[in-house]
Amino acid sequence: MKLPLIILSALIALTACTSSSTGRKQVMLFSDTELDKMGAASFEDMKTKTPISTDKATNDFVQCVAQSITKNVDKSVHKGDWEVIVFDSSQVNAFALPGGKIGVYTGILNVTENQDQLGAIIGHEVGHVIEHHSNERLSANKLQNMGMAAATAAVGLSEVENKGLWMAGLGLGLQYGVIMPYSRSHESEADIVGQDLMARSGFEPSASIKLWQNMAKLSEGSGQGAPAEFMSTHPSNQTRINQLTKHLPSAMTLYNRGNRPNCVKPKVIPTPAS
Ligand SMILES: [Zn+2]
Repeated sequence: MKLPLIILSALIALTACTSSSTGRKQVMLFSDTELDKMGAASFEDMKTKTPISTDKATNDFVQCVAQSITKNVDKSVHKGDWEVIVFDSSQVNAFALPGGKIGVYTGILNVTENQDQLGAIIGHEVGHVIEHHSNERLSANKLQNMGMAAATAAVGLSEVENKGLWMAGLGLGLQYGVIMPYSRSHESEADIVGQDLMARSGFEPSASIKLWQNMAKLSEGSGQGAPAEFMSTHPSNQTRINQLTKHLPSAMTLYNRGNRPNCVKPKVIPTPAS
């Protein structure tokens, strides 16, 4: 009866030895190859379901910023070229996926004032990929399902005395932070990693703070609650502004002024009405 718990513990022991770059313990049950495949398949799916922008100036701007960022990402994260797509959508959103995929919605470009702020957005999204956040999220779901199955089996067999043990199995998950929702810690980590990455890529790192100030104004200004999906899945604007401000001196030491890109934001970005 204790076998599933033993397997669960062994799996965690075998895989929990990694740490993120900010020192968080990470549990990852999937291989990079599996994640790359999932990323690529999801991206192909998105491309068939969401219109793609054909505006040349908009595409040139996004490609210029994205390439300036991705060329500074270690090859261990993704070996080949990164695929960057501008989706023609009013959503204030952007994302990056394992397997070297980046999606930027035209809606977020209207909040983005210049190349540095877009560098902040893409740096943040690529930061999630660098730190294997989707692997962690998938692993947490998998462990949670395994833990639940084990607990249900124990109760079903009326082994009441063992129930504490099964719950300890779930608690083990809790101890490693795999069952608790951890999106906030992922977001904070992506902010820090992204700010360093944009600085190394020649984008002014303080632009990340200005970007979030603009995002805050946008969410206050619209009388419809939080319109932007990008913001609703992220920690409060003030929390991240404080954190990015605190990390700025460290990012400034990495700021590669000599390598500054010259990506020009078009005056008009055609965006479909929401
Ligand atoms: Zn994020």
